Amino acid sequence: MNALAATNRNFKLASRILGLDAKLEKSLLIPFREIKVECTIPKDDGTLVSYVGFRVQHDNSRGPMKGGVRYHPEVDPDEVNALAQLMTWKTAVANIPYGGAKGGIGCDPSDLSPSELERLTRVFTQRIHDLIGIHTDVPAPDMGTNAQTMAWILDEYSKFHGHSPAVVTGKPIDLGGSLGRDAATGRGVLFATEALLKEYGKSISGQRFVIQGFGNVGSWASQLISDMGGKIVAVSDITGAIRNKDGIDIPSLLRHAQETRGVKGFSGADAIDPSSIFAEDCDVLIPAALGGAINRDNAVDIKAKFIVEAANHPTDPEADEILKKKGVVILPDIYANSGGVTVSYFEWVQNIQGFMWDENRVNSELKTYMTRGLKDVKEMCQTHNCDLRMGAFTLGLNRVARATLLRGWEA
Ligand code: GLU
Repeated sequence: MNALAATNRNFKLASRILGLDAKLEKSLLIPFREIKVECTIPKDDGTLVSYVGFRVQHDNSRGPMKGGVRYHPEVDPDEVNALAQLMTWKTAVANIPYGGAKGGIGCDPSDLSPSELERLTRVFTQRIHDLIGIHTDVPAPDMGTNAQTMAWILDEYSKFHGHSPAVVTGKPIDLGGSLGRDAATGRGVLFATEALLKEYGKSISGQRFVIQGFGNVGSWASQLISDMGGKIVAVSDITGAIRNKDGIDIPSLLRHAQETRGVKGFSGADAIDPSSIFAEDCDVLIPAALGGAINRDNAVDIKAKFIVEAANHPTDPEADEILKKKGVVILPDIYANSGGVTVSYFEWVQNIQGFMWDENRVNSELKTYMTRGLKDVKEMCQTHNCDLRMGAFTLGLNRVARATLLRGWEA
């Protein structure tokens, strides 16, 4: 099932639980605006190359639309649509005053030089600058993009509209970025995991973790979890997978991954087959890479008791059913990885206030949001007698539906 079909399925299930009427359901599901643009740039050798860029603005009833921009070869309209919709429910679950959006360019950023990436980002910004803005749609980093990408978007946007730091989040600190934003998704995963384990009388220390993905989210989550005494027994990324039953030394792995651009070849662990990463023995499994990674083929072998979805839609619906039958507790993406967009909100607030928070304030506010988020999700689970995924979806849908109804329908 592709990302959009899977997301729509969860939406429909939650809508049924809430008893939303068909008209409201349709209005919530159809994206507000879908943008598709051609981005042609000269390569460093002078040849021209064209890419297709997307921005899907899903819903704005609770506030400006918000979401990342992804540079990845697998970016396609359906995926961007699904991710934009997930942002609508995610911002609602986090209870921050935003709607949802997502953007992407179908390209392989590792094939592009820094100056080619800069040109591509600037052309994409030129194509969409009239449709984004501080109070309309606020982009942020996602897979394949980072603070530097946001700096280029900010600079290009400002040529048309004047200096507007709040038009993007996840910026470099020197351009108005927030302290703690870089680590925020990973830190949110830590707080979410802590809150979940507490419900079962457990804590991070003493648990064994497997982390699939060692990019921005996976590496920060690993670092923060190991700082709290969690034992990371296996890690994988696109270069390979490694295992050490006694616990991987994460600071050394981070140094190795930085030097060699991946986890492969790390001397403090044994190499394992990357396709068997989900079958590794552990207590908590954290998928932190691409969508759809956990499917009906590998779900049966999962030994973890808890799955914390640091990636967006890592578990496809068939796997969800299998895991439910096995009694695995899944903390869903729209709650578990909401730390990134929550600190994006703090960044936007700081830009609008013209005031900078210290990092302790950012991190402690994030903890408050993540802890409250799980409490709100669990309340929905109790009210509707459903699992955590449906608890999060019903919470998000209900908040967006209420805002939509309050606005009314008169044209
Ligand atoms: N790309 C991140 C996400 O999927 C962050 C979005 C944002 O900060 O706006 O949640």
